[in-house]
Amino acid sequence: MAILVAGGAGYIGSHTALELLEKKEDVIYLDNLTKGHKDAVMGGKFYQVDLLDTEALRKVFRENEIEAVIDFAAFSLVGESVNEPIKYYQNNVGATINLLKVMQEAGTKKIVFSSTAATYGEPENVPILESDRTEPTNPYGETKLAVEKALKWADRAYGIKYVSLRYFNAAGAHISGKIGEDHTPETHLIPLILDAALGKRESISIFGTDYPTQDGTCVRDYIHVTDLANAHILAVEKLRRDHTSAVYNLGNGKGFSVREVIHVTKEVTGLPIKVIEAERRAGDPAVLIASSDKIKKELGWNPRFADLSTIVETAFRWHQSHPNGYEN
Ligand code: UDP
Repeated sequence: MAILVAGGAGYIGSHTALELLEKKEDVIYLDNLTKGHKDAVMGGKFYQVDLLDTEALRKVFRENEIEAVIDFAAFSLVGESVNEPIKYYQNNVGATINLLKVMQEAGTKKIVFSSTAATYGEPENVPILESDRTEPTNPYGETKLAVEKALKWADRAYGIKYVSLRYFNAAGAHISGKIGEDHTPETHLIPLILDAALGKRESISIFGTDYPTQDGTCVRDYIHVTDLANAHILAVEKLRRDHTSAVYNLGNGKGFSVREVIHVTKEVTGLPIKVIEAERRAGDPAVLIASSDKIKKELGWNPRFADLSTIVETAFRWHQSHPNGYEN
């Protein structure tokens, strides 16, 4: 039986699919390629399908025996979601509900869902626990939380079991340098700092230097994309084993300020990086740090690349070998 990876040609999807292939799982990639890259597909079967296309999706489920779905297909930019909420609701909620409908028709009862730290909004505790209040401060977080709630009801009504993984800041690239992060436009901190180090952009802007943190810049919990990928495999194994649903945070439990990330990147690359202090970016909480104790305890998750310099090193390797991303 196969595992369907929706959004499999995207950043986290492609890293997860590769780990599944390495575990000899039968992998089906599904991606509409609006953000994903065909060259990130490393094996298995590939379907270029949009989750909103019900008929095409039904065909995928008819042609394959799908045991479980891992769903990464979503838009994920906070700022864009504030300006274009309908686009986010249509794609992140509408498309996932469609997927659930087709899963229910086909009798597929396991789903691992990409959720986010943005479901919490301003944290009430540091580190954040799964049981903490969820009050998103932007449409992106709202759409992810809406799907989490739909999953809860789909579990009750149809017995579809789910694991929602609330990621903190995904970063880094596959250790082989074969696949990595390639967004257009790029908005994420580590790839942008690397672009500044490699001379692809002139400088890196720090968004806000007056936050109530040790150096005034935002603090985030960075997690290596392969460690994230492995958590999805543990989640599938959990669903196979005990048929119960769950929500888990995924981070390293350690916060780094924007200035610290720039400093580590300077050390790792040995290159000068021009820094500009800029205004705050709308919707950014000052500090986001995960407690991942629950997934460690319940699923035995154990990050292999927890060190920030290792995360930056793997990203640097990818950026050096793929200066134009997948368009090499
Ligand atoms: N950030 C920044 N300059 C940039 C991009 C991001 O200072 O050019 C900051 C951003 O304000 C946030 C942190 O870096 O505090 C991580 O941002 P990113 O977009 O990578 O991830 P997010 O936290 O939005 O998921």
